[in-house]
Amino acid sequence: MEKRYLFTPGPTPVPPAVLAAGAEPIVHHRGADFREIYASVLGRLRDVFRTEADVLLFTASGSGAMESVPANLCAPGDRVTVVSHGSFGERWLAICEQHQLDIHAIRYEWGERPDPAEVGAAVREAGTDIVFCQHSDTSTGVVSDVQAMKEAVGDATLVVDAVSSLGAVPLETDAWGIDVVVSGSQKALMAPPGLAMASVPAHVLERVKPSRSFYFDWPRNKKAQDVLDAAFTPAVSTIRSLDVALGLLLEQGLPAAFDRHVRLGRATRAGVKAMGLELFSPDDDTAAVVTAIRAPEGIDADELLRHLRDCHGVTLAPGQQHLKGKVFRIGHIGWFDIFDIASALAAVELSLTELGADIERGVAVPAAFDAFERPPVDV
Ligand SMILES: *Cc1c(COP(=O)(O)O)cnc(C)c1O
Repeated sequence: MEKRYLFTPGPTPVPPAVLAAGAEPIVHHRGADFREIYASVLGRLRDVFRTEADVLLFTASGSGAMESVPANLCAPGDRVTVVSHGSFGERWLAICEQHQLDIHAIRYEWGERPDPAEVGAAVREAGTDIVFCQHSDTSTGVVSDVQAMKEAVGDATLVVDAVSSLGAVPLETDAWGIDVVVSGSQKALMAPPGLAMASVPAHVLERVKPSRSFYFDWPRNKKAQDVLDAAFTPAVSTIRSLDVALGLLLEQGLPAAFDRHVRLGRATRAGVKAMGLELFSPDDDTAAVVTAIRAPEGIDADELLRHLRDCHGVTLAPGQQHLKGKVFRIGHIGWFDIFDIASALAAVELSLTELGADIERGVAVPAAFDAFERPPVDV
């Protein structure tokens, strides 16, 4: 069997103990065996979300948790603000459109970081009381300052998509007053795809409207979760895996995980630049989730990805929408270490050389190791 390497920002590689947990015999979801796992995973989710609130756990991909928000908080015609600066901001827009909301969009160029003061002013002007945004837009590598965003939007309900950032970069849900945070199992949380979460505090539950979704009905799911008796058959094996993964993350400690992600981002950028390539994502320590890189002159990024996969068994992520063919992305969230980054860089270097690109050889990996070891600097 050919060895394969997964260096994408989701799904991400999963530690063996997490995979092994998913291979345990199936338990019944309405029995004591599952209740024990369920209680544990819900407690750990609260710890990772940094909240005392309920974290509703759904069997769905991250988009399911995203869609649950307008489905429970909005009715057709409601006016909402969506901040978009990448492919996942466009997803909020598409979801809100599907729910027939009256959308006030604040659009930034892909790769730009939203300006919280500007967002705050726009929200006040539009008079909306709910704002959707991304913490990390995985299509560009930009991580927003959602703490400042919440301060800027005041009493409006701030809904943060933290699917790729939760567990990778600091997110203090309660301390920053973030109203709703949504995430998914398959990114920095180091678990297989298939689970999505939404943190829903009491003050947000108070404003729910009759749910426009049966499956994602928040009150129905909360009522069931409160007595550890899931509303529907959950993906019991994946939940078992997630419980183990969250245990590993909390055992290591969130501050240590955040520090590692900053240093992995730093290493990736140093390696890429040493090769002579140009970054698309920001060249600073905020870009700790994923590094987006422009394909060099004359090389199609998708062709590079095909070559990496077909010739070397290495999977990187493509550019999305209008960045398709122009950029490629190296993920560094979750179960990544410096040797993963070294392998990804070495494979990119080799493949670009094989495709005839004019790049500097033999310098990326040492530059990455140097940058990884350098002590953290304030940004
Ligand atoms: C991965 C991701 C999602 C969810 O995507 P799914 O494929 O539905 O899990 C949402 N937002 C961001 C920022 C993501 O990176």
